[in-house]
Amino acid sequence: MMNPVYNTNISYLCPVCADSTVSRFTVFDIPDEHTLGFVCHNNCSDNCVLIKKSRKRYVITVECAECDRPHVYVLPVPKLWSKSLKTLRCPSTGAELVYIGSMPDIRFAMSQKR
Ligand SMILES: [Zn+2]
Ligand SMILES: [Zn+2]
Repeated sequence: MMNPVYNTNISYLCPVCADSTVSRFTVFDIPDEHTLGFVCHNNCSDNCVLIKKSRKRYVITVECAECDRPHVYVLPVPKLWSKSLKTLRCPSTGAELVYIGSMPDIRFAMSQKR
């Protein structure tokens, strides 16, 4: 793993109210075989994003704000903790749903989005 980071940020859209929320999390928040859920900042009941660590990879389930269905993405552990910005897109519409990375990278991606 080249220059990994141990904490990162995730930006996601709420499928209920469509607001975006940014949360910080660390490598220690997701032990093996555990799932970390991310809730809308308006406290909508659903978990907008779930990240489960399983066998050296992360399984990321995103409740899509565009098509009201969950989408599942798999990232190897080193990829999630690399410095580059990760963008998860809706496979149906191509809309950018989730960013994972540094705050400057996330802010830039969000500013380019609209
Ligand atoms: Zn919400
Ligand atoms: Zn979708």
